[in-house]
Amino acid sequence: MESAKVEVNVARLTKELEQLAQFSETDPPAVTRILFTQPDLKARAFLKGLFAAAGLSIRDDPAGNIFARWPGSDSALPAVGTGSHTDAIPFSGRYDGTVGVLGALEAVRALQATGWRLRRSIEIVMFTSEEPTRFGLGCVGSRLMSRSLPAARAAALKDSSGATFEEVRRAAGCSGELESVPLPVGHYFAFVEMHIEQGPLLEREAIPIGAVSAIAAPAALRVRLEGESGHAGGVLMPDRKDTLCAAAEIVLAVERAANESGRADSVATTGVCKVHPGAVNAIPGRVLLEIDIRDTQLEPRDRIVAQVRQAIAQSADRRGIRAEVELLNADPPAEAGREVVSAIQAACRRLETPCKLMVSRAYHDALFMARICPMGMIFIPCKDGISHRPDEYSSPDAIAKGVRVLALALAELAGS
Ligand SMILES: [Zn+2]
Repeated sequence: MESAKVEVNVARLTKELEQLAQFSETDPPAVTRILFTQPDLKARAFLKGLFAAAGLSIRDDPAGNIFARWPGSDSALPAVGTGSHTDAIPFSGRYDGTVGVLGALEAVRALQATGWRLRRSIEIVMFTSEEPTRFGLGCVGSRLMSRSLPAARAAALKDSSGATFEEVRRAAGCSGELESVPLPVGHYFAFVEMHIEQGPLLEREAIPIGAVSAIAAPAALRVRLEGESGHAGGVLMPDRKDTLCAAAEIVLAVERAANESGRADSVATTGVCKVHPGAVNAIPGRVLLEIDIRDTQLEPRDRIVAQVRQAIAQSADRRGIRAEVELLNADPPAEAGREVVSAIQAACRRLETPCKLMVSRAYHDALFMARICPMGMIFIPCKDGISHRPDEYSSPDAIAKGVRVLALALAELAGS
């Protein structure tokens, strides 16, 4: 296969990324596209239109995952999967996830234009709810697909208004039963996700492509602290059960546990702190915390989770308040498949594009796809490593390089 024949239409892809960004609840440059809201539904229709225009056959599953397939010459063989997500957290940017969906489409169009006939089918996936914004759990679509989340648990997930995932997906027009979402064994031969790095390393080192060797193991805790509210003037200090003071101790314990782990790969963050009643003259009687803990290895990650749990219990005990800890998720890390990494590296060599082997510290749908097939990821640089912000940016040139590498890697995996 002649790599020079793979021509990426950057102008078309840039325009489509711009069009997709317009489906948003917030004004540009901010993008807010939450699962099964109007902007999300419109974005889905827009994508399907593009997939259809490229002659791909489209399928929805009952969770709202969208599949678009370019049949290979031997369509009975397991397909090569690629794709990412298009949901966007509040006030984020236009590149997270989207470059992996529209970029995959551009890669397929570029391959179609070469006239090559690939053996395996290539299937683009738009995953439902990669972001945990609505239901508190990320990667709902890929978890279901890979049997990492039982259908009944997914159905019962609740959003902040109390609506269940089951109700919300039905209202959005997804029919069928969630039990049928898991993919049959051998559905995919391999899966490749292209994504912005969401970190500064590629840009800093001026390397256009990252080949991901492993995805770090994420865990998340939700902590409900229940003490006693009261008048900030009337209740004397010895009589207080102040949950925000306990929360402050816990937040610092979270930071300390990661700092003192002795590992550069340990990170821990308390990203949510909701205080009730939230008035200057009232003692905080209730606090809700959400804590995110990650490491590239399972054991040190779980050690930090245990230390945080212990700190919560100690603080609650000392202050006479109630603490309820819910483990939202605790996923193992995933290693990339050697054959997928090799295909990405070979594509980079053919295109004379420098490539860096790296770990993904953010999790992606590929983390769950790794449970059903060999997985790999292509990272492209983003400006200053910024993501989940309106000023998130990846240049058309950076995206085009990623798409060319993706196209050649897909072609190699699909065979001719
Ligand atoms: Zn993403």
